[in-house]
Amino acid sequence: MRLVSTRNPKVRSTFLEALAAGPAPDGGLWMPEPIACFRDVPHLLALPWAERNTEILYRLLGEEVDRADLEALAAEAFDFPVPLVPLKDRLFVLELFHGPSLAFKDFGARFLARMLAHRTAREGLKLRTVLVATSGDTGAAVAQAFWKVKGVRAVVLYPKGRVSPLQEAQFATLGGNVLAYAVEGSFDDCQRLAKAAFADPAVAGPLALVSANSINIARLLAQVLYYFEAAAQLRALGLREAPLFSVPSGNFGNLCAGYLARAMGLPVKAFVAACNANRTVPDHLDTGVYTPRPSLATLSNAMDVGDPSNWPRILHLFQGNLDELRATLRWGSLDDAATRRALWELNGLGCTADPHTAVAYGVLEERRGLGEPAVVLATAHPAKFADLLKRDMNLDLALPPALAEAQTLPLQAQPLEAREEALKDVLMG
Ligand SMILES: *Cc1c(COP(=O)(O)O)cnc(C)c1O
Repeated sequence: MRLVSTRNPKVRSTFLEALAAGPAPDGGLWMPEPIACFRDVPHLLALPWAERNTEILYRLLGEEVDRADLEALAAEAFDFPVPLVPLKDRLFVLELFHGPSLAFKDFGARFLARMLAHRTAREGLKLRTVLVATSGDTGAAVAQAFWKVKGVRAVVLYPKGRVSPLQEAQFATLGGNVLAYAVEGSFDDCQRLAKAAFADPAVAGPLALVSANSINIARLLAQVLYYFEAAAQLRALGLREAPLFSVPSGNFGNLCAGYLARAMGLPVKAFVAACNANRTVPDHLDTGVYTPRPSLATLSNAMDVGDPSNWPRILHLFQGNLDELRATLRWGSLDDAATRRALWELNGLGCTADPHTAVAYGVLEERRGLGEPAVVLATAHPAKFADLLKRDMNLDLALPPALAEAQTLPLQAQPLEAREEALKDVLMG
């Protein structure tokens, strides 16, 4: 797969190079160009999940990775179900939260982990170190994704005492190749330490240090796969009309993956960009002016983004032409009060949802035409928000067994002073 920088099409990379490189050298983001367009989408949709994933990844990455490797890697990364659940008249919910961290980020993170291990082995390296600073959720997804993956170790830095017990259980009880450090400081300290390590050639070089950053192109490719799966399940139900997809959006990686799937030939009538009170993108689409802002805290906290990192990728797909983008995109936002109403409405339809999914549902209902088939992407397991759902709606949600068990395991995190030298010592030691 050939990639170009969103800032300059002359800045190019292959997939395997970009995988471990972070952003493009000119500060842009990597995007495939050209984007492979499949002429046999009905055939692809008739394939079962695992076979289709291998086939799509092979068509995208076959010049760089063997088919057998892709098959093994995809089977391991995507080993959990992706059910499409009917909600009401031609409206469906695609449950993307059955992976180990109970959020859709498992797709991207698990694929990235295995692709990095593949690259590490190809380079003849013994071990690659993935370093992540987290305020909670990212650390959980990354730690779960890299756990027990050979050839990589994950180092998670988090602010001691400032993440939820559930989040801490997800990254600090694993052990093995996942090292958690409770930093005596704030999340900003964690980020400062991580930045210093990446900037220090004496650390970054020998450790083959990489970031498991959410802008990694591997994450987007993994997310393309479940858009195809939704379409496949709709067809299996006899629904052949191109659907709407409502995407609860923060950094807009998920929506970008949807647009890639569409560019690859997947029939999509339109996307719905659903935001919370962080309205940077809806305002851009309304007014034509892009104004980044500090983020506001909301119930759907993983979408609290004031300057979405993947938005330039979507603009790149449309060469900056907002009118062309608007032709296939609807958008809107819900504040917390409206999000609560959407949670109640979903509950009335027999669906216990999390606040992110509720935003996608609420905005979709404002933007869906009569009888249009539509899919809401459900990005987090409601049990992750058990406190809110208990307090607001008196719902009692049980954690899935694996997570409940993690909460009973001993924490294996080590304390770490918020000094760059201290991190260097543990990384190199
Ligand atoms: C990260 C996240 C989102 C936002 O996804 P983007 O790809 O950043 O737009 C939505 N819901 C949940 C639960 C998330 O964790």
